[in-house]
Amino acid sequence: MTKKPHILFLFSDTGGGHRASAEAIIESLKLEFGDAISTEMVDFLKDYAPPPYNYLPEIYPDLVRIPELWGVGFYVSDGRRQARIMTSTLWPLVRRAARRLVREHPNDMLVSVHALANSFLLRALGKNRPPFITVVTDMVSTHALWFDRKADLIIVPTEIARLRALEHGMPPEKVLVVGQPVTESCSAPPGDKGSLREQLGWPQDKTIVLLIGGGEGMGPLAETARAIDESGLDVGLVIVTGRNARLKAELEARSWENPTFIYGFRQDMSCFMRAADMLVTKAGPGTIAEALNAALPIILYAKLPGQEDGNVTFVEQVGAGVWAPEAPQVVRALTRWICRPAERAQVVENCRRAARPEAARTIARILGEQLGMGLRS
Ligand code: UDP
Repeated sequence: MTKKPHILFLFSDTGGGHRASAEAIIESLKLEFGDAISTEMVDFLKDYAPPPYNYLPEIYPDLVRIPELWGVGFYVSDGRRQARIMTSTLWPLVRRAARRLVREHPNDMLVSVHALANSFLLRALGKNRPPFITVVTDMVSTHALWFDRKADLIIVPTEIARLRALEHGMPPEKVLVVGQPVTESCSAPPGDKGSLREQLGWPQDKTIVLLIGGGEGMGPLAETARAIDESGLDVGLVIVTGRNARLKAELEARSWENPTFIYGFRQDMSCFMRAADMLVTKAGPGTIAEALNAALPIILYAKLPGQEDGNVTFVEQVGAGVWAPEAPQVVRALTRWICRPAERAQVVENCRRAARPEAARTIARILGEQLGMGLRS
């Protein structure tokens, strides 16, 4: 082991959730261990995978544009046998790249926050390797590729994900339920609603509906926003289009009946969530976890079939929100919560109960323990 232990995080920008999870854990490592551990993030697809796989982060928003097709791909490939076949078939194509990644990034521990990184990197690392820990960033419908028995530890966000890990042959002692990691600013409020709204220039006297389509601005965000605006509800709309510049331009080109604020990719989503009253979002695990921490009632207007199916069930089961796949259903859900404050207050309370604000810190401590590190005094 080098003097200062070095952790390599394997992620990719297919959506915004994998990066967000890695960043949250890295922030917590700093808070728990100061400068005693160094970290590094590598987008293993963009920077190492051979063509055409290195284009995956770039074309991901297009790949999921026909969600049904994505869903078929997910379910057809989801299973221990399928995962083994996929890994063996692709291995000759990716072997050189995987070995080069390992060579170029010496480390004392690898942490994977992406399902596609596990089996290939574990193969490339061989027997004499540093600890390999997987942090599963899907809440419920976790694909078989997350679970490689060779990993030393698998950290999952929910009990259902733990059961999935066991179904896929993981030994129980290697699976820990900790929660979905979110940044410190998400788990501890950065300010009160009033002052945040003042800073952001949002009205104080309106119910603020925050609309987000994940990191890539996915799903029928424009139609949903329009339906809310034309519903007659007296609300303020805050629409975050993420990296979807076309959608941002489209929304900016239209006129709105209600006060409407349109943003591209923001680094301060935790402030947005604290300052808003209700969230309309696609069922991304990162956004859901952050909303639970912000005690923000959730209306799910879209999901990616496959890995996000279970997120919908999870949100409904914990009473943190509702599934509203058509724009009129979104409007009905908003209307209901506006007209029935007691019901909304209960949903707010349910969010608080389901949140795992300590998840990133706990994961950081587990990683530190595995490295034999003491906590910062
Ligand atoms: N996000 C962000 N700024 C934006 C839009 C999204 O930081 O403008 C973050 C969001 O807070 C969350 C992540 O991107 O942490 C999206 O992850 P999620 O799992 O919800 O969806 P994905 O984009 O991975 O499909």
